[in-house]
Amino acid sequence: MLRIRLHGRGGQGIKTASQILGTAAHLAGFQAQDFPLYGAERRGAPIVAYARFSKNIVLERGPVAQPDILLIGDETLLSDPMAAVTQGTDASTLIFINSRHTSQDLKKHYHLESLPVQLDISELCQKYIQKPMILSTALAAVGVRLMGHIDLHHLLQAIREELGQGRINPEKIAANLTLAEEVFQKAPSFDLEFSESDNGFSASRLVILERRPPVDSAPLIFATGNMAQRKTGNWRTHRPVVHNEQCNGCGICYARCPEGDIRMDANDKPVIDYDHCKGCLICVEECPKHAIEIIREVESWN
Ligand code: SF4
Ligand code: SF4
Repeated sequence: MLRIRLHGRGGQGIKTASQILGTAAHLAGFQAQDFPLYGAERRGAPIVAYARFSKNIVLERGPVAQPDILLIGDETLLSDPMAAVTQGTDASTLIFINSRHTSQDLKKHYHLESLPVQLDISELCQKYIQKPMILSTALAAVGVRLMGHIDLHHLLQAIREELGQGRINPEKIAANLTLAEEVFQKAPSFDLEFSESDNGFSASRLVILERRPPVDSAPLIFATGNMAQRKTGNWRTHRPVVHNEQCNGCGICYARCPEGDIRMDANDKPVIDYDHCKGCLICVEECPKHAIEIIREVESWN
């Protein structure tokens, strides 16, 4: 079996990446399993998804605790201990990081046990689909390439199937296919070996779970008005920067920011609260004067 864990943020297409991976593996003749894990979180919150592939029936269930491949779509998560991105990895884990930094710099900076594979897929996403934050196709292409055993045409067919369910128009699907081909050519292939063991799971080994009331697993929050204390600014991978000379003071960005992180100053110019702006970039899309620039955030540690 091969186990893959994908990390990213809500809105980056991490769940779709795992679905493309699963479908590509299925088309290539493997038994496949893929699923995300997230709760009632906002866009930008850390999320994780999983995939398992085997030549036999996949009986193992639940989160992948010890991945063979770790796909990190969002480099900033490595600085967030709560995201636990490298949990369960060791020197044998094949780690991919979407980054502009070199593999050597990433290993040193994040104290990794092994040299990670690095590729700036955000830049490729910007080039081909003009969305540097939508990583689904590119991250899936990296995963397919790293694990090996799956041909390019299976990857492309999986992308057509997963994106072509009425959600994305044909031109955008074509752009995603070109993106996938480019990533497939650029990422290294390792042709990983499948372990024979399924961790001792078998069809006869059932775990009977005790029924408990939902309140046992739901967080209870008793404090009032504490949202401002959660500084979601560290979720941000791209920073919106207002150019006041282009801004006409219409206030649309102020009205459309889902987090209430923009206020208008005395001159009717927007001021962004970077402690809490999570980088969804809705303000950029909404600004009629194109007065808000996108600056990539993760270069800051150089
Ligand atoms: S300021 Fe812009 S990027 Fe930041 S949270 Fe608000 S809409 Fe999103
Ligand atoms: S939407 Fe654009 S033009 Fe309007 S206030 Fe915001 S930055 Fe200025």
